[in-house]
Parts: sequence; structure tokens; C-alpha cells
Amino acid sequence: MKTILQQLPAPLLAWYAENRRILPWREEVSPYRTWVSEIMLQQTRVTAVLPYFQRFMAAYPTVADLAAADDGELMRLWQGLGYYSRARNLKRAAQQIMENFGGSFPTTYKELLTLPGIGDYTAGAILSIAMGQTVPAVDGNVLRVVSRVAAYNGDITDPKNRKQLRDAVEKILPDGHAGEFNQAMMDLGATVCLPNGAPLCDQCPFSLFCRAFVTKRASFFPVKSPKREKKTEQRTVFVLRRGDRIALHQREKTGLLAGLWEFPNTPGNLDENRAFSWLSENDVIPHQWIKKVNYTHEFTHIIWQITAYIVEITGTGQSNWVWCDPVERQRRAIPSAFRKLVKETE
Ligand code: SF4
Repeated sequence: MKTILQQLPAPLLAWYAENRRILPWREEVSPYRTWVSEIMLQQTRVTAVLPYFQRFMAAYPTVADLAAADDGELMRLWQGLGYYSRARNLKRAAQQIMENFGGSFPTTYKELLTLPGIGDYTAGAILSIAMGQTVPAVDGNVLRVVSRVAAYNGDITDPKNRKQLRDAVEKILPDGHAGEFNQAMMDLGATVCLPNGAPLCDQCPFSLFCRAFVTKRASFFPVKSPKREKKTEQRTVFVLRRGDRIALHQREKTGLLAGLWEFPNTPGNLDENRAFSWLSENDVIPHQWIKKVNYTHEFTHIIWQITAYIVEITGTGQSNWVWCDPVERQRRAIPSAFRKLVKETE
């Protein structure tokens, strides 16, 4: 594997010089900006991240600003980007940088890994891109490219095999150009060596020696064990309108969508009779059923099948519900699973 991978750096860097993506965190580089961009890019497409990154940098231009961020404001800025624990970890890590590192970004791999939300890949990206250190940054894109070039038969969902590929990449990093190499591999994986058996091999700088391409087996790599099926849960959600106010409830501090705001809801798919009973048990009296909406929301491991009722009511409801007018609603972070219903409140 080492011999074939040694052929990567020269054509890759030449390709990158011509094809690099212009991105705001590359135009002005700092450890802070690289870190925030890499966290936002986890499980999220570049086009979706761009406006969030710009708004985030305007609101929190430094680590100190992020460490002092108001939680509600931070969640509201993150609203729609999903995986909210990333935002909470960013703030916790910023606080630790202020407290444990005197406000300066840590400069070693070991120190970076002590910060919440920073793993091997993110540490490698920060050190190589923003600090010029010769460290690999191997994410899913890079694993795909490398396993295709080398026709690697190991299952890349196995941490042992991922480590083997990471070690192999580490050995071929060009001294003084690791940041460029890592970004070039990310770009190549995102724009040319595409997932799901659809690589654009005719545009690839590795096509002369890529074993998967030469042997016409690109769709066989990377080898991955099948994903576990997602669990399906049913939920009934209530958009309760009282004049210009609607009821919101803050979720628990831990677990799925921790600390975010939701419409009152309960497990199960309640028909109208059972929904009426649930409302009565929760101290509200429905006097107009406006609409019923059915939709599905997918998380990483769970699918929610949602039945939502939009109802005009009287009554006060549970003590932990907050009755928000339109301005108060804007201030609270409502996750994507419920966003579809927000327009029903307008
Ligand atoms: Fe991927 Fe094709 Fe390039 Fe091989 S030649 S690395 S399969 S795009």
C-alpha cells in the first residue's frame, strides 16, 4: 500500500493548485476559524455551512467571545444546522481554552484532544491547516479516496483498519505542505472521488495508477459493513395557539436535542379522541381543531413519524410550558424536527 500511496502528493498538489474550492475559512486562516469550520462541516454540506459560518464569525469573532456566548443566542445561531451538541461543545471547548490555556489555542495534538468535540480528524485539520504541522487529517472523504487508490479490502468501519489507513497517509505527507495535502484530499473526495459508486475518474489526478479505477472496481470500495437499521418512533405533537401565543417546552439538558425548544408532544400516534384526552389531562381545552399534519423526520439513529395537531385552546397547560408571542418565539432555538410546524404558528 505504501508504494502506491507514495504516488499521491505530486499530482494531488498540482490538481489542488488548479481546482481548490474558495471558502471563507481558507481565505483568512486561523486555528479558531479552521476549528469552527471543521466542526460545522461534520455531517453537513459546504453550501449549508457557508451562511452559518459567516454569521457565527460575526457574532463570535474570537475564542473569548465564544466562551462568553449566551446559550440561547448560540442555539438560535445554530438553528437549522442540526447536531446541536456540536455548538455546546464549541462553547465548552472555548471556555477550557480560556481557563486552561490562557486564551491561546493549544498547539499540540495531545492538548487539542482534551477539548470537547475535538477528535483525531479535527485536531489534524487544525494543526496542519492553521499551524503548518505535518499531521494527517483523515475523514470519510480521505478514507474513501485512499481505499480506492490502494483497492484496500479492509472494512473501514473497523477502527483498526481506519488507523492503518491513517498511519499510511501520515507516512506520505509532504513536509511543509501537509495542510495543503489534507485540504486537497478533502476537496478531491468531495468533488471528484464521490461516494456511492459515482466517482468522476476521468477528472481525477490519480486515474493512471488508482487500482480501483484501473481494475474497474471503484464501486467496490471503500468496503463497509452494512449500517444498522434506524429505529422508528411515533410522536404526536401539539401546536397549541392561545391568541397570538403558542406553547413551547424546553427539552431535558441531556440526550436527543438537549436543551432545545419543542412543541408539547407525547410518544405514540394519537387519533383525535386520544389527542383530546391528552390535552384535557394537560389542562387545556381545545375549542378549534385547525389542522392535522403528518410528516417524518430522520435523525442519525432514529426516525420520528410525527402526527401534529394545530389547535386553538384555552387554559394554561403544564407549568413548564412557556406561552410565547412571535417575538419570544424568534429568540428560542427550535430544532429542524419541529421547524416545519413553526410556519403554522405564523
Ligand atoms: Fe476515485 Fe476514480 Fe480517482 Fe480512483 S481514479 S481515486 S476511484 S476518482
